[in-house]
Amino acid sequence: MTRSGQEYLESLRDGREVWLDGERVKDVTRHAAFRNTAASIARLYDLAHSSGHRARLTSDGEHRAFAVPRSYEDLVARREAYKVWAEASFGFLGRTPDYMAGGAAGFAAAPAVFTTDSFDGADNALAYWRRLAEGDLYATFTLANPQIDRTRPASEQEEDDLVVRAVAEKDGGVVVRGAKMIGTASVFGNEVVVGTIEPLAPQDVEHALCFSLPLDTPGLKLLSRTSYEAQARSVYDNPLSSRFDENDALLVCDDVFVPWERMLTYRNVDTTFRMWWRTPAYVNFVHQAATRFWTKLEFLTGIAILLTKANNTHRLPQVTQAVGRLMGKVAQAKAFVLAAEASYEQVDGGDGAAVGAGGVMPGKEISFAQRIMAGELYPQAVQEIRMLAGGGLIQLPASGEDLLHPELGPLVRKYIRSPGHPAEDRVKLLKLAWDALGSEFAGRHEQYERFYHGAPHVYLMQQAWEGDTAACEELARSCLDGYGLTGRAAGEDAAR
Ligand SMILES: Cc1cc2nc3c(=O)[nH]c(=O)nc-3n(C[C@H](O)[C@H](O)[C@H](O)COP(=O)(O)OP(=O)(O)OC[C@H]3O[C@@H](n4cnc5c(N)ncnc54)[C@H](O)[C@@H]3O)c2cc1C
Repeated sequence: MTRSGQEYLESLRDGREVWLDGERVKDVTRHAAFRNTAASIARLYDLAHSSGHRARLTSDGEHRAFAVPRSYEDLVARREAYKVWAEASFGFLGRTPDYMAGGAAGFAAAPAVFTTDSFDGADNALAYWRRLAEGDLYATFTLANPQIDRTRPASEQEEDDLVVRAVAEKDGGVVVRGAKMIGTASVFGNEVVVGTIEPLAPQDVEHALCFSLPLDTPGLKLLSRTSYEAQARSVYDNPLSSRFDENDALLVCDDVFVPWERMLTYRNVDTTFRMWWRTPAYVNFVHQAATRFWTKLEFLTGIAILLTKANNTHRLPQVTQAVGRLMGKVAQAKAFVLAAEASYEQVDGGDGAAVGAGGVMPGKEISFAQRIMAGELYPQAVQEIRMLAGGGLIQLPASGEDLLHPELGPLVRKYIRSPGHPAEDRVKLLKLAWDALGSEFAGRHEQYERFYHGAPHVYLMQQAWEGDTAACEELARSCLDGYGLTGRAAGEDAAR
């Protein structure tokens, strides 16, 4: 059953080891760096209980993201659920609970992928999915190795324990040590998946494992980056960063014990990679992400339109064209979602597909291409809106306090205004725009949209290898084959 926001917040008070600015955080639901965002996530859970959203968000009492879709209609229904949560944060919470929920449903659709001669993780993968769905748990994931030296495999870094690896087998499980990046929203999760989504080298056997642990597991540490929420002056001054700072943390496993039943893959380079790509897990990730991306562009374009109205530039032809370009980008983002659904594929669940039998997933080709489009389009959209906004984004009072001040308030009201827009409204809009487009929080979002799907040098290669390059080549070849240096084009004589 879906949890209430209050139940979710209580689940975070479990003694987890979160560090920020050299201090251990006692309670993320009360700390100034995390509490507003925790409350924003709690509100997502509450939406599932509100009469206006329950039907779109849930089915049979569970969030729709946990379900294994079995038809095109199921995919559409899941996307409509994704959209509700995406709109609640205007697209600025990327790793909401529905993200990894879709990943887990992907495992359940093809559990046979987890079965190998050396370790059979199929039952654990199914149990993982059931545990999340039944408890309505918030799972996050850390699937990238710390950068350190990108030219060397995990097993050949300067020290043995830089990347999470198995160091010893004990009764009932394995002790792991090392780090993973980047744990977005992990401080707000109930469980975190630790694995690797990019190819490992054949010799990286000790690093080839994937497991999921509760955040209060002894030895599991989260080292938070700078908190934008803590830096925010107020909701009026920093409306997004004060409430939707989903956090990113370095995950450190300091001799953490992983029980066998929480292990999904173990000492298998191939399965540790394939579990993301040969199940619908990754494509399901993209389905959520692409819906959120579309929502975020709708929101940013809305800000752009409001800015042009506030500056009274909205009737200028060049400005209308810029808005047209933005609307074109919104349509592109939407089209990728709809096209991935329309090109849905049957899941090959293998022999163990009892749960996932008959499962479908969004089309791979379009889903994979969404990563390329979104990573390139987002900075273009931000640039377009900043050009529309001009210097007003910067010429703002340091905080809303100036508006409340008896001497400064009248000055601000006199000089920072536009026709039909009192100073309070104009400052409010421009502060929202700066938070979305130019603040440190906004810079993090640009980096997020470029990299959260993985690094371009990896996914561009994948697109070229897995795409139907032969069909493109053949079409071009057919043109070349249709004429010669001296002769006429094939068919030309017959046509005369
Ligand atoms: C804000 C943010 C949040 C994220 N959240 C999560 C999360 O919650 N969970 C998660 O698992 N991941 C997350 N990621 C994604 C992940 O952590 C990595 O950013 C992603 O996998 C890319 O790896 P990298 O950043 O180490 O880049 P790198 O792989 O180091 O690449 C950086 C650049 O180095 C160059 N380069 C490096 N290696 C090569 C090569 N072999 N060939 C050619 N060029 C190369 C390229 O120019 C490349 O763009 C997040 C990323 C960001 C930015």
